[in-house]
Amino acid sequence: MFYQDSYEVIVVGGGHAGTEAALAAARTGVKTLLLTHNVDTLGNMSCNPAIGGIGKGHLVKEIDAMGGAMALASDEAGIQFRTLNARKGPAVQATRAQADRILYKAAIQRILGNQPNLEIFQQPVDDLLIENDRVVGVTTQMNLSFRAKTVVITAGTFLSGKIHIGLENYTGGRAGDPSSETLAAKLHDLPFRIERLKTGTPPRLDGRTIDWSVLEEQAGDFPTPIFSYLGNREMQPKQISCFIARTNLQTHDVIRSGMDRSPLYTGKIDGIGPRYCPSVEDKIMRFADKDSHQVFMEPEGLTTHEVYPNGISTSLPFDIQIGLVRTMKGLENARIIRPGYAIEYDFFDPRDLKASLESKFIAGLFFAGQVNGTTGYEEAGAQGLIAGLNASLQTQEKEAWTPRRDEAYIGVLIDDLITLGTKEPYRMFTSRAEYRLLLREDNADIRLTAKARELGLVDDHRWATFQTKLESVELEKQRLSTLMVTPHSDAGKALIEQTGQTMSKEQLVDQLLRRPDLTYAKLMKIDGIGPGVDDEMVANQVQTQIKYAGYISRQLEEIEKLRRNEETKLPEQMDFASISGLSNEIVQKLQNHKPETLGQASRISGITPAAISLLLVHLKKRS
Ligand code: FAD
Repeated sequence: MFYQDSYEVIVVGGGHAGTEAALAAARTGVKTLLLTHNVDTLGNMSCNPAIGGIGKGHLVKEIDAMGGAMALASDEAGIQFRTLNARKGPAVQATRAQADRILYKAAIQRILGNQPNLEIFQQPVDDLLIENDRVVGVTTQMNLSFRAKTVVITAGTFLSGKIHIGLENYTGGRAGDPSSETLAAKLHDLPFRIERLKTGTPPRLDGRTIDWSVLEEQAGDFPTPIFSYLGNREMQPKQISCFIARTNLQTHDVIRSGMDRSPLYTGKIDGIGPRYCPSVEDKIMRFADKDSHQVFMEPEGLTTHEVYPNGISTSLPFDIQIGLVRTMKGLENARIIRPGYAIEYDFFDPRDLKASLESKFIAGLFFAGQVNGTTGYEEAGAQGLIAGLNASLQTQEKEAWTPRRDEAYIGVLIDDLITLGTKEPYRMFTSRAEYRLLLREDNADIRLTAKARELGLVDDHRWATFQTKLESVELEKQRLSTLMVTPHSDAGKALIEQTGQTMSKEQLVDQLLRRPDLTYAKLMKIDGIGPGVDDEMVANQVQTQIKYAGYISRQLEEIEKLRRNEETKLPEQMDFASISGLSNEIVQKLQNHKPETLGQASRISGITPAAISLLLVHLKKRS
């Protein structure tokens, strides 16, 4: 039976990828349907209640710059905010918010509920309708069919999901939710390359049974960082601290005693897990010489006693879970509310996708999120936005768009996935981007909002806010580039006295701001130079653009050079080992991937711009 009229875009799955996909498609004005198992789980955080972090925070800002929901929901739900790498350069600084999972879910559900052009329907999708290698709709569990021009699959960890706790295992999409078996079986009949990955989560603890007084407190930053370009501190809830506990030798003994019942170590789990988020049993085996590992005790919200012990993700049997938790100082009497577990699931080789995230085999079918081999809410949300956008653009017969690697971390993520594929759950790091100085959290809007507006993703309010900010940045930069300070003026004397700087001759303020010890805030305290602008985001942007102008223009030149050489061919039998200056690791990567052009070589993860320059020099010498 066909239900109601047809849609332009159907999104299957209401996780982080599905949410951003459905919102993006609907924002562009096309009729969109989101189909998911359970409407109550929209906005659920399957694992830890935190958004952002290094590399991931960058993705969240980019999603936000293009009108997405994740950053705004984080501002509404964040109970502890931090800027990671605050003492390092702006390129690697990243925002992280510990979220109240109930508030986060409420924010996402409200945003979805208020989105024009978006309908939501609760039903698992069991099959795809395909005609002449083109998807034309879906069929759900109760045999309802929906027609659509495009379909976006964002089924997360649910496809043939298998949950493991010790040697026990059962089917499930995540704890408490059913897996998606019928759809998984149908997808296996199509010409996709499908493999298995796994991920895990720790037991959740009852905060009332923890002795917080003996744990190390970790307060958030004050004033709190703000995630969204449209966010503010008034929307942020009450802030609370996280704490740090530690494993000890006794903990490690308990873990070892359970290894003969570990699904990971007895071969029950085939899927490969996230390298950078290993289970505690993995850590104990891999770093056998370490006496202790940190465990971040993260409250799950303001109205729940549940605590997420970040660092002891495990699929060991439940008796071992209780034992290992209770060996830790402060957790001697801790009670587990939900057991830890690992989950294995199907993922689709992302090399079978175009840059738009459309399948190369079935027209109109897009994939986004964990199903493409990634891990993390942010990676999922980023792909969701691009897949939802491109699904919509296709229905409007418009050209697909995906940001380039030098435009966005989202570009890096998608390019890595579709050119390299992945053997383990892929997560974002700043080190994956070769143009880190350009791809900062602070300028995601400058990089992406105008393009997103052109594509129909950005509403009038965000656009006006962005334009006001840009104007203020330009005006302030102009003011500083024409304001002169002389050593004997009142401002000059105050500067020397208040900041300990020396000044032999008159200088423009923007030149002064380039000095390593001077900040915008320090300069604006001086009468005759300040007070400057109030808006923190504007002040920060002015400071970064002026301070790093030299590096930024060098990076832009590099990109330009690379673009000119993008199509330069590499000989088929190129002997990379004979090129002096290339490290063994880089030689190996080049030999494995056998890139045909310099452009392709440059996109192999770990191939640095310096290595590309060496290849270029080598080619020039040969010609
Ligand atoms: P999900 O959030 O899994 O959402 C999938 C959605 O699709 C759900 O709403 C589901 O109901 C729906 N769905 C599935 N099949 C169908 C169907 N046939 N029809 C309709 N709807 C369907 N991330 C980290 O960064 N670090 C970690 O350590 C980590 N550990 C994790 C541990 C566990 C146990 C789990 C389950 C996840 C973990 N994650 C971790 C991953 C994180 O939860 C995911 O990366 C993120 O949620 C992926 O988002 P997604 O939208 O792709 O999928």
